Amino acid sequence: MSVLITNIGELVTNQPGERAGAAEFAAAAGAALVIEEGLVAWTGLASQAPAADQVVDAGGRAVLPGFVDSHAHLVFAGERGAEFAARMAGQPYQAGGIRSTVAATRDATDDQLRANLRKLAAEMLAQGITTFECKSGYGLTVPDEARSVAIAAEFTPEVTYLGAHVVPPEFDADRAGYVDLVCGAMLDACAPHAKWVDVFCERGAFGRDEAAAVLAAGQAAGLQARVHANQLGSGPGVQLATAVGAASADHCTHLEDADVDALASSDTVATLLPGVEFSTRQPYPDARRLLDAGATVALATDCNPGSCFSSSMAWCIALAVREMHMTTQEAVWAATAGGARALRRTDVGHLGVGARADLVMLEAPSHAYLAYRPGVPLVAGFWLNGEGVIEGIQAGS
Ligand SMILES: [Zn+2]
Repeated sequence: MSVLITNIGELVTNQPGERAGAAEFAAAAGAALVIEEGLVAWTGLASQAPAADQVVDAGGRAVLPGFVDSHAHLVFAGERGAEFAARMAGQPYQAGGIRSTVAATRDATDDQLRANLRKLAAEMLAQGITTFECKSGYGLTVPDEARSVAIAAEFTPEVTYLGAHVVPPEFDADRAGYVDLVCGAMLDACAPHAKWVDVFCERGAFGRDEAAAVLAAGQAAGLQARVHANQLGSGPGVQLATAVGAASADHCTHLEDADVDALASSDTVATLLPGVEFSTRQPYPDARRLLDAGATVALATDCNPGSCFSSSMAWCIALAVREMHMTTQEAVWAATAGGARALRRTDVGHLGVGARADLVMLEAPSHAYLAYRPGVPLVAGFWLNGEGVIEGIQAGS
C-alpha cells in the first residue's frame, strides 16, 4: 500500500549530495512525499504528486526525517535524582558516580532492565527519535555486560559494548586485570550481540593505552569503534578515535587545535551532547569551531541516569542553537543526518528516495520551531518504517 503525505509546509529531506559539507540541510516548501513498502518512494512539489492508496493531509505542518540518536545509555536500573540535585547545589560531576548505577543494575532482574529500556525507547519514539544507539556499561561483569547487550539488541540494531565505562570497584587494585577482562572473556560474551565497541577515554576512567587496547580488541572481534572523548578535559580521546578510524568521537567538549584538525580531516564524526553540559553545568562544546573547520557534527542525547537524564532531541537542538551558536538548519541536520553518519547508516537521517520511511511530523510549520518553541511537545505524529502513528490528522483514500 502506498501513502501520500501532501500539503507539507516544510519537508526536510537532507538528501545526500545536494550540497557539500555539514550544511547539506535541504528543505522544500509546499511539498509532498510518498511512502511505499516502508521506504520513501517519491518527494517533490505537492502539485505534482502521484496518486496513492492513502492520502494524509499534513495541513501545512513540517515533516522531517526521524531523529537519529547516536549516543544513549539505556540499560540500567535505579536513578540519581539526588546526585543531580547535589550537583546543582555546587558539587562537581565525577566519572565515579557511574558506580552507583552499576550497583543498582547488577541487582536488577533481566525483566526490570528490559522494562526500563522499553519505557525509555517509547519515550524517545514519542519525541521523534526513530533510530537510537544503546550502550552497555553499567554491568561491568561478564554476565552483566552480556545480558545488557543482549537486552539492548531486542530494541535496536545499534548496540554498543561499553565494558570500558569505568573500572568497577572490585578491580580498584588491578586496573590491568580489568582491561584484560574487557578485551577477553567479556568481549567474547558481548561481541555476538553488538555492532560497536566504545571506551570512556578520560581521566578517572581509561587512559590512552588502555583505551587503545580495548578498541583494538573490539575491532579484532568484528566490532566498529566509537569513543567517549575529551568530555571533562583535554586528553588523547579524539586523537585515538581518529587514529583507529572510529565512526564517532563523542562529547568533544575540550579540544585542542590538533583535535579539531584531526576531526576535520577524518571520517570521524564529532558528536556533541549539549544535554550533558546543561545537566552538569559545564561549558558547552564549541560547535562553530568544528563546523567552520569542516568537521562533521552530530547531536545526540546521551540519555543516561547520571550526567543527562533526557530523551529529548528537540531540547538538544534548542540548546545547540541557543548555547552553541549552531543555525537551526545545522542543528536539525546534526540530529538527523549527522547522527546517521555517526552510526555509519545511509538509510536513515534523510528522506531521499529509497530511505527508510522514518518521518516526524511537527505541530509547527517549520523545523525552526524546535528551537523557537523549546520545551513544548511538537511531535504531531511519526512514521516508523512506513507505519504511521498520527493523532488528530485526517487520512483519506
Ligand atoms: Zn555517554
